[in-house]
Amino acid sequence: MKIGVLALQGDFYLHIKRLQELGVTAVEVRKPEELQDCQGLILPGGESTTLVKLMKNIGLFDAIKDFAKKYPLFGTCAGCILVSKEVTNQQVESLNLINIVTERNAYGRQIDSFVDLVKVELMERQFEIEGVFIRAPKIIKAEDSVRVLGVHGDEIVLVEEGNVLAATFHPELSEEKIIHEYFLEKVKASI
Ligand code: GLN
Repeated sequence: MKIGVLALQGDFYLHIKRLQELGVTAVEVRKPEELQDCQGLILPGGESTTLVKLMKNIGLFDAIKDFAKKYPLFGTCAGCILVSKEVTNQQVESLNLINIVTERNAYGRQIDSFVDLVKVELMERQFEIEGVFIRAPKIIKAEDSVRVLGVHGDEIVLVEEGNVLAATFHPELSEEKIIHEYFLEKVKASI
């Protein structure tokens, strides 16, 4: 099983490391051809506006939309913005792969970044894990078709619909591996 990690900008390296720790071959994806061997793709945190520009310039925007018809995608932080159907503020053309509406930088500026426990339910088990929120977005609306898998207080922070998993925080920055493991289970189930 090979998992791609979009490696144009932002926090892709720690996703690669996490996948390797879990015994999976991780592929840095910088152009459409590199998706060919992959059975899943992670869109990391970074700057969503920059990521969209770069993806469009090299043909990855459409290639990823096609890829998502067949294989699972996991968007974290900026990646969560990218997969959402709509972004309310500071127009970002998103991939529209999951029925959530996101708001960028919804907790405030860089200084308002924080680490706190989030409640997650995965594979019928409940976990309290550390969530690292860095200039994070909020999921301000999730359609009924979307499963809420994690919350921080009243905020929805981890969701899934079909082949798409999205977190507003950075699971690659904490020790807990369960969310990546869950994504790998989704990929296995889709092969
Ligand atoms: N603030 C960034 C954006 O709007 C996301 C931050 C992150 O990925 N840590 O794209």
